[in-house]
Amino acid sequence: MADFTLDLNDDQKQVRDWLHGFAENVMRPAAAEWDEREETPWPIIQEAAKVGIYSLDFYAQQAFDPTGLGIPLTMEELFWGDAGIALSIVGTGLAAVGVLANGTEEQIGTWIPQMYGDAADVKVAAFCSSEPDAGSDVAAMRTRAVYDEARDEWVLNGTKTWATNGGIANVHVVVAVVDPELGSKGHASFIVPPGTRGLSQGQKFKKHGIRASHTAEVVLEDVRVPGGCLLGGKEKLDERLARARERSRAGEQIKNAAMATFEASRPAVGAMAVGTARAAYEVALDYAKTRQQFGRPIIDNQGVAFQLADMRTRIDAARLLVWRASWMATTGKRFTSAEGSMSKLYASEVAKDVTARAVQILGGNGYTREYPVERMHRDAAIYTIFEGTSEIQRLVIARTLGGVPIR
Ligand SMILES: Cc1cc2nc3c(=O)[nH]c(=O)nc-3n(C[C@H](O)[C@H](O)[C@H](O)COP(=O)(O)OP(=O)(O)OC[C@H]3O[C@@H](n4cnc5c(N)ncnc54)[C@H](O)[C@@H]3O)c2cc1C
Repeated sequence: MADFTLDLNDDQKQVRDWLHGFAENVMRPAAAEWDEREETPWPIIQEAAKVGIYSLDFYAQQAFDPTGLGIPLTMEELFWGDAGIALSIVGTGLAAVGVLANGTEEQIGTWIPQMYGDAADVKVAAFCSSEPDAGSDVAAMRTRAVYDEARDEWVLNGTKTWATNGGIANVHVVVAVVDPELGSKGHASFIVPPGTRGLSQGQKFKKHGIRASHTAEVVLEDVRVPGGCLLGGKEKLDERLARARERSRAGEQIKNAAMATFEASRPAVGAMAVGTARAAYEVALDYAKTRQQFGRPIIDNQGVAFQLADMRTRIDAARLLVWRASWMATTGKRFTSAEGSMSKLYASEVAKDVTARAVQILGGNGYTREYPVERMHRDAAIYTIFEGTSEIQRLVIARTLGGVPIR
């Protein structure tokens, strides 16, 4: 009778264990090297493609898990392996989701395969929304897309920043302003196909963590793309803009459809954070059991043992929030209290806290690159920044609770 369970089914356990094996045997041994090289780990992505982890099919299968746990389980295991390499593997998914969410069937069928390539010739994709003056404040975006009716082409101009895989991607998905009067309602997404003239990589960033993941500026100078590269098509865009103008004239608050999408996607980032936190906790636990000081393992000191107790408790709590939000998204429950944002906020703060404590438990060794917690601590800092900072998550949660519109 009781249908509530936190037990994983056999399929989920099998996928989790398979991913764990890849994370442990392929990603972990390569993690320090690619962190130092600060380059995209192409051979590891290729390995992931060979076994079927780097493919749309695999993510689609996980996304269709009716319990909602397929994606969080995947993210947790891969990011347990290594956050930088994992982001290189799942980064393409961000662009693919942009096409799946807004594209026509034809666009999905044409562009997503080109985002991944195949095992013999792997490709990556980039999702370019953030700009130097438009990070949290997406409505401040300036990149402009203008329609050239005579040639049925869109002309894109602007500078994107912080784009994962920006400039090295085969396919770029670019968000641009089509009607500046409408703020974020006047944005649209475009495919920039491989080899398009006018798109170039700007600065490649040297980062604090997740250094195996490529992050760069993308410069768009008179980039011309065919009309068919507007995701969703011109007719749908014109209808959407007409509705938005109508509502804006009538002074109506426009319901922000993007917010529901974010609530559904944020738990995936929470799961990445849980993976990094769990990895650091496990290293710290092992170390505390074996490191002897004053004639006994350091875990015999309550000061150390209580740290581990807090770390484990917070990781489990974070995972439960992530699982709840993912389950809500998949089973169509309404996010009445911004539960997706809650899960991302909590899990990312936990990852920062747990990895910092792990460094402390390892003492001098924790501070060196001889041990992985130093890298995990640097990697964890990203979770409170990308896909909406912790402050923005709090803002979303607070406004949702207060019934105040989120723009
Ligand atoms: C490694 C990495 C990869 C990324 N990948 C991508 C990608 O693939 N595609 C993409 O489009 N973007 C990407 N981003 C961009 C990322 O999403 C932004 O960095 C993030 O949204 C924050 O924007 P910002 O950096 O401009 O910070 P800002 O918005 O300038 O914020 C600075 C600080 O002010 C705070 N703040 C801002 N507004 C408020 C407010 N109203 N109330 C309270 N506090 C506020 C913020 O929380 C933050 O602490 C990536 C970033 C990084 C670092």
